[in-house]
Parts: sequence; C-alpha cells; structure tokens
Amino acid sequence: MSDKTRISWTDATWNPIVGCKRVTHRCQHCYAERGAPRLVRLGLAQYDGLTRETRDGVRWTGKARWVEAVAGKPLGWRKARRIFINAQSDIAYAGVKPRWRARIWWIIGQCAGFLDPSRARGHEFQILTGRPQGLLEWTETWADPAARRALVENLYGDGRGEVYDWMSSPKYWPDELPNLLLGVSVCDQAEADAARETWKRLKDRGWRVWVSYEPALGPVDWTGWEWLDWLVIGGESGPDARPCERVWLADAVAWAAQNGVPCFVKQLGDAYSDPANGVAGPRLKVDSPPPPTLRLDRAAVTDPTAWGPELRVREFPKGRI
Ligand code: SF4
Repeated sequence: MSDKTRISWTDATWNPIVGCKRVTHRCQHCYAERGAPRLVRLGLAQYDGLTRETRDGVRWTGKARWVEAVAGKPLGWRKARRIFINAQSDIAYAGVKPRWRARIWWIIGQCAGFLDPSRARGHEFQILTGRPQGLLEWTETWADPAARRALVENLYGDGRGEVYDWMSSPKYWPDELPNLLLGVSVCDQAEADAARETWKRLKDRGWRVWVSYEPALGPVDWTGWEWLDWLVIGGESGPDARPCERVWLADAVAWAAQNGVPCFVKQLGDAYSDPANGVAGPRLKVDSPPPPTLRLDRAAVTDPTAWGPELRVREFPKGRI
C-alpha cells in the first residue's frame, strides 16, 4: 500500500485486496501480475503465492488475499485525496470474498461520515473493474436489505454492536456511495458494447460512473455513453506494448468534449503511432535501425506537454475534490 503513485489520474493507491486472474486479451500485459514477484522480493508477504513462473511468463495463480494491515489507511489520511482502490486486484473477481467487499464499503462509508460525521474524510474513492456484471451484482447485493443483513451477520457474527447496526440498517446507507466512482476497463469496441448497458444501470441507480479506455487496443464509437461522469484514455505501456493509434485517442477526446464528459488522457502508449505527424510506431525490432525522426521517446509517452493540443486534456469528474 502506498500513499504515492505514478498513476496520474489519482493521488494514492489503497490495496486491501491483492491477486486476480486474467479476464480478456486486455489483461495480456497486466502490470499487477507482472510486478507481483518483485514485490515478494521486496519483502511484501501479501504477494506471496499470488503468481507463478510459467513457460509463458509470470501468471496469476488465481489466489486473492485480504490485507488487514492496510485496511484502515484511508481513515488515517486527514488530507482529502483521490484514492484508487485495489490497483493489484479486481474487486469483482470471483476469488474476492463478499465480506472483503463489505469491509471496503465499510471504510468508504465511514470516510463519507455515515457512522460518525466527525470521522468524515473528503476522499474520493475510485474503483476499476474488468468484470462489470460482477460489480453490478455486488452493488445490488448491498442495496438489498436482506442480503446485506446476511452479509453483515457473516462478517460480524455474534460481535453485534454499533458497527453491526450501522452496516446492516438501510437507514444509514444510501444505495450508492457519494464518495465512490465506479469504473470499468474497456479496450475496444466489443468490450465497450458489452459493458454499456450494465454501466448505464449503475448510472440510473445514482452511482457516478467512469470508463478507463486503457489500454486502447482499437477504435471505439462512444455513441450511447453520453451520461458518463468521466473518461480516462491511454495507450498501453511496457516492453511488449500493443499498437495504439493517435486517431483512436483523439476521437475519444473530441467525443468527450462534444458531450460534456470530463476526460483525462493518461498516456499515449509505448507503441503509439501517428503517421500524419511522423511518429511511426508500433515498436520497431531491435535489429532494424529505426528512422530517428520517427521514434517517440519514452518521456513523450507520458508528458502531456509533448503532445498535440488535441490530446492535452486532463480533467477530473465534477465532485468532491
Ligand atoms: S482484471 Fe486487471 S488486475 Fe485482473 S488480470 Fe486483468 S488487468 Fe490484471
């Protein structure tokens, strides 16, 4: 868990759950999967056993784990910040236990001041899933008083008291959390189409919702997403990054501007191409000398000042911070 992050659209990451499993081709170069062995070597025992070395490289084993040691961190942060939850997992993964999700809701609810206004924090939490249906089902479980009560009983057993009453009673909880943004990852048109109706249902129920179009692996027609609260855009980074074309990113930015959707371009991608402006991409083989003027240098991938003005957009959703 870290208060610091290199993810430019947030201020801090909070990882009470670690471990995941690949969902689609979008996950092919999952940074969390690839990075877990290094974290084990650094002595972070919570990552132990989450991945294994295979002939094809590092792969998730499918284990997921709750990390109690970091669970209460957001309550200790007095300065309001954007907090990305579970950068090393997916809250809607089937290996994540419902009671872990309930604990996360519990912390977010406390930071909203539901239990005790004096403990309210101005944080804005951000969740990102690759499993939109799973997250919809979880929010529906929480919104159903009987299902919620059963869950909280399971969590607290006979330790009933103030927290039990607070969590299990609909009186204290709106169906949606005002300090949480629900995000879905999509990388191409097929994934966007598959997620749209699910995300619209969450929006209709009062949630603030966003999309992370990263890694952008194909063009997307965003028609039908005009109700979004936020769109984050980026090409893939890393040594095996897949191609990303300028026009995909620029079209998404233009659509967001036309429809009043706040938009944040995170990065261009390490295999970015923009032939009209002399950027060849995708990555050239090491043994083929690249035409020097056609290479995009690493800093330019993430530094907006190096981009054309049509991509230099870094807005945040309207909200608390
Ligand atoms: S859903 Fe996210 S964390 Fe899980 S494998 Fe895919 S990219 Fe990695």
